[in-house]
Amino acid sequence: MSRPVVFLDRDGTIIEDKGFLGDEDGVEVLPTVADALRLLRARGYASVVVSNQSGVARGYFDDDAVRAVNAEIVQRLAGDGVAIDAWYWCPHYDEDCDCRKPAPGLVKRAVKEHGLTLAGSAVVGDRGSDVALAHAVGIPGILLPGPYPYDGPEPDLRARTLLEAAEWIVARSAVPFDPSTSSRARDTTSGQARLRVTKDG
Ligand SMILES: [Mg+2]
Ligand SMILES: [Zn+2]
Repeated sequence: MSRPVVFLDRDGTIIEDKGFLGDEDGVEVLPTVADALRLLRARGYASVVVSNQSGVARGYFDDDAVRAVNAEIVQRLAGDGVAIDAWYWCPHYDEDCDCRKPAPGLVKRAVKEHGLTLAGSAVVGDRGSDVALAHAVGIPGILLPGPYPYDGPEPDLRARTLLEAAEWIVARSAVPFDPSTSSRARDTTSGQARLRVTKDG
């Protein structure tokens, strides 16, 4: 069965948006990201980064710098025992590419290359282009707080953190629910109190 996927913006969603970050020393993973990724994985979701990196086309940095920043994020997340399944970015700017968000090129590639399904999937980001991307491929778009005035379509949810977004996504999940693993799945979100209740019951 193909997995649903949460498409994650990078800058402002996984890491602090430093504005054209081309230096791995500038990586600051945002709060709740590790917990959100853990929850999504536990509930059967792939997590895939889709990022506009026009700093490449603008000549601020090259693709290797994008890779270095991504590799640094991978390493930080590994320290928390979590991982992202795939990384996609658009290096273009001002050209007629099909991959710069809100164009759906990166999402389509990811679905094809990783055997994913859009059913039950969602996009999370902090800009209008993220929500517009979601709507372009017919899935919910969740908006996180960002530094820019919001100019996009109405999001399906405004969440304060990535964890809050992830909780909403799994709650409306199209992933078949297996009762034999339900208490274990809940443990990851509800902690020890729920675990004790489940065992006593
Ligand atoms: Mg962003
Ligand atoms: Zn592109």
